[in-house]
Amino acid sequence: MKRIAVLTSGGDAPGMNACIRAIVKAAKSNNIETLGIYEGYTGLMEGKMKVLTTDYVDDIVGLSGTILKSARSKLFRTEEGVKRAIRQANSNGIEALIVIGGDGSFRGACDLSKYGLPVIGVPATIDNDIAGTEYSIGVDTAVNVVTDTISKFHDTARSLISDTPRVFLIEVMGRNCGYIAIASTIAGGADYCIVPEVPYDINHMCSHIKNKFEDGKAYNVVVVAEGASSVNDLKTQVDTVLNIESRTSILGHLQRGGAPTVTDRFIASQMAIRGVELLIEGKSNRMVGVIGGEAVDCGIYKGINDKNKISEKLIKLKDILII
Ligand code: ATP
Repeated sequence: MKRIAVLTSGGDAPGMNACIRAIVKAAKSNNIETLGIYEGYTGLMEGKMKVLTTDYVDDIVGLSGTILKSARSKLFRTEEGVKRAIRQANSNGIEALIVIGGDGSFRGACDLSKYGLPVIGVPATIDNDIAGTEYSIGVDTAVNVVTDTISKFHDTARSLISDTPRVFLIEVMGRNCGYIAIASTIAGGADYCIVPEVPYDINHMCSHIKNKFEDGKAYNVVVVAEGASSVNDLKTQVDTVLNIESRTSILGHLQRGGAPTVTDRFIASQMAIRGVELLIEGKSNRMVGVIGGEAVDCGIYKGINDKNKISEKLIKLKDILII
């Protein structure tokens, strides 16, 4: 194999650059050249690509986002789009492709592999909702950002006196998987947490908060994953039941920012190297993931048909720590 390519697709995630850097270096150490494809599948269809040298990627490891840009393409979801991408791959001498992205991106990778292009997927999405891997690139950084933000709510709320009890409702990312919400609740010390995996009961939540107020706590921080409820709907319910005026905050895209943590850089680098190895071994249509802390071949993309859910163990840990 002489030339492979890499693209980033779907939502950007901190650590994607660390992955790109490690792919280029792993390929180079096997005398393989790496083409960087810009703007995801759109760039592949349009031939927007250039050779990535080790010099070019040397200092991107600590940069958030992706130097290759990420995009979503409707055209690529058609047969015509996939054929265009294959024509570009062939004319640019691309012998195999690594796709860094989420489950949608992996579906696209499967379509390419049907035309004979070997493809390996590397999971990257801050939600940690890709089935078949314990971690995806970006998750650790996002959890750290949210944990830090919760600490800041504590910083300001600590000064409140108990005759003006406050509830802070913080909405975090997680449409299907409440990992960010639950991990940041555990690490950041929130008072309640709502995730898509467990239906919430507003009365249970409000009596939990009321008990804390009665015990003398002047404020409660509640973390809610966007897939469980909108924070504004929750505010209406909480304010009605508790007869207070809660404060809301939607963290939104700031959760995608921040320099990738050491863990994300490590995970991204390990998965990249395993991905290149798999291509050299002649494998295709597989996802590299993390199992037991190791970057391994996870087999066919499980994430396409399934979503990662948080474990009962983690839910139990959270339940103990919010008491
Ligand atoms: P994230 O979890 O961050 O949203 P993702 O990879 O799931 O990442 P998508 O927008 O679902 O993000 O997919 C990225 C791109 O992959 C799409 O713009 C499209 O080009 C391609 N894609 C998505 N779904 C499919 C599909 N079912 N078949 C073929 N290609 C797809």
